Amino acid sequence: MAELTPVREYFGTVWNAVKTTLVGMAVTGRYLLSKPVTLQYPDEKPEIPDGYRGIHVYEVDRCIACDQCAIACPVDCITIESIGKGKNAILTRYEIDYNRCMFCGLCIEPCPTDCIHMGRSYDLTRFRSEDCSIDFVELSKTGQQSPTGERVIWLNEPTKK
Ligand code: SF4
Ligand code: SF4
Repeated sequence: MAELTPVREYFGTVWNAVKTTLVGMAVTGRYLLSKPVTLQYPDEKPEIPDGYRGIHVYEVDRCIACDQCAIACPVDCITIESIGKGKNAILTRYEIDYNRCMFCGLCIEPCPTDCIHMGRSYDLTRFRSEDCSIDFVELSKTGQQSPTGERVIWLNEPTKK
C-alpha cells in the first residue's frame, strides 16, 4: 500500500476532527429539542411508581413482636424490643437502621399480621448517620394516623398520584 503523503495525512486528520465534531453536535442537537428527563429536585419531585420499595410503613398496633421480619433480614438491621410477645406484646423499640437497609423487601413476606410494608418515601437526607436509624415506636408517639384510623408510621410519605 502506498504511503500517505504528509499533506494527505494532514487533511485526513483535519477531516476526521471535523467529522467527529459534527457527529457529536448531531447528538447534542437531537437532545436539545427533546423534553429533559432530569428533575429540578427538590422543587420537582418524581412520581413514585407502584411497587416502589422505599422507607417502611409500619403499623405499630398490629405488630406482635414475633421477630420474623428481623430474622428474615439479610443484613440484620431490624432491632425489636418488647415486653412480652404475641397479641399483648408491648413494643418498646422497633428500629430499622437505614445505614444498612438495602430495601430488598425480604422482611415484608414473613410478617404474620401484615403490618410492615415497603413505603413510597425515599428521602433519608440527614446530617448524621445516627439519624438514619429510625425507631418507629418512638415515632408512633407522634400519633400519626392512616386514613383508616390505624396508627401508621410513615416518613414524608408522598401522596399517591
Ligand atoms: S428491606 Fe431488606 S435490608 Fe431492609 S430491613 Fe427489610 S429485610 Fe432488612
Ligand atoms: S414480622 Fe410483623 S408482627 Fe412480627 S415483629 Fe416483624 S413487623 Fe412485627
